[in-house]
Amino acid sequence: MRVELITTGNELLIGHTINTNAAWIGEQLFSLGVSLQRHVTAPDGEVLKSVFAESLERSDCVIITGGLGPTSDDLTRDYVAELLGLEMIQDEQAMRSLEAFFAKRNREMPVDNYKQTLCPVGAEIMENHMGTAPGLWFPEVITGKYNCSIVLLPGPPMELKPLFTQEVMPKLKSRLIDSEKTHYQELRFIDVGESDFHQVLDEKFASINNLEVGYCARLAELDLRLLGSQEAIFQAAKLAKTAFASYYLSDTKQSIEALVIECATKAGQTISVAESCTGGLISHRLTNIAGASAVIKQNWVTYCNQAKQDSLGVSATSLDCHGAVSEQVAQEMAMGALTKAGASYGIGVTGIAGPDGGTEDKPVGLAYIGLATKNEDGNIVSSVTKVYSPRNRQSFKQVVSQKALFALYKAII
Ligand code: AMP
Ligand code: MG
Repeated sequence: MRVELITTGNELLIGHTINTNAAWIGEQLFSLGVSLQRHVTAPDGEVLKSVFAESLERSDCVIITGGLGPTSDDLTRDYVAELLGLEMIQDEQAMRSLEAFFAKRNREMPVDNYKQTLCPVGAEIMENHMGTAPGLWFPEVITGKYNCSIVLLPGPPMELKPLFTQEVMPKLKSRLIDSEKTHYQELRFIDVGESDFHQVLDEKFASINNLEVGYCARLAELDLRLLGSQEAIFQAAKLAKTAFASYYLSDTKQSIEALVIECATKAGQTISVAESCTGGLISHRLTNIAGASAVIKQNWVTYCNQAKQDSLGVSATSLDCHGAVSEQVAQEMAMGALTKAGASYGIGVTGIAGPDGGTEDKPVGLAYIGLATKNEDGNIVSSVTKVYSPRNRQSFKQVVSQKALFALYKAII
């Protein structure tokens, strides 16, 4: 089903109103399995005529929002009727409900509002309980050669949303053929880039029929968006999960920190974090998740060497010989967090966020992530991951926290 959306209003073009309706409608349609084909924002006025005429030619359904009010710039209804050659008549029911709307508020109905009770012949009024502008539904049959259904909705979101969910969605749903439905899956990977996927998988993806692939890259995170038939998605997801198995996080929208808390809770495991360069971000992200108190034992932010020694038991020798940003110190921080807090997992992070403080062998962007836990015999086992990600401080912290949480997640599962 080819659906296009036209949102109208000068306020949307000059940035005074954020076009939330467009995103919301796109999402609603998508939940039905329909991908919006196109969205255009048109100013108030005659431009709508040509924009609408174009959409009408190539769509099965055109949705227009805005311009149904009583004022002189509210002309959507007139333009649509004119283009389809439909006469306007006064709708008795619309008249009664509009009069009732004003009566309920103890207000006299202004003459201008009568315009809102005009309905093109054959169109259906969709009653608006939140405002004065009723919605309009034009069934395909009255659009002649276009064979296209048309929806007119008021612009204010609190009026548009109930009309859309209660009136428009069921109508569209009944028109949808199962085989046309677009299915959707999103897979999340950590620490791998779009270009890696492009090199390894794009050719293979291209050979799958009925598949649309999209990427959304964030800091140290990549969402792979798969759209198409169920079979196509199944094949593509399998390919991606196999090729990038060690980077795969999940097929839910859950954040990595939510997954860490969830799997630690299920496994009855506890976590302790010792942070230097991330300044508490790992701790912050974990404690944003409800239920964190059952998992987090005690966390530290240790910036100076003395604090690393006093709070975590990092040895002066390691600090002197290898420096605060080193594999040894990250490891000892993790082990310190583990033993001092008596947790099941300890994480230790140290690095150089910049912009100053870098040297030739320890440049800005270098970090070490230590991870410690106890094996079945009660002996401490640990590992350290080296990270090099020169960026601004905020992004650096985000990337390092991301990698630390991912290491923790993989260790727990
Ligand atoms: P209307 O009179 O139907 O054109 O709607 C006007 C009101 O709805 C104004 O307050 C607009 O800011 C708001 N509005 C119109 N279109 C949108 C949109 N696409 N997203 C969010 N608000 C909108
Ligand atoms: Mg308007």
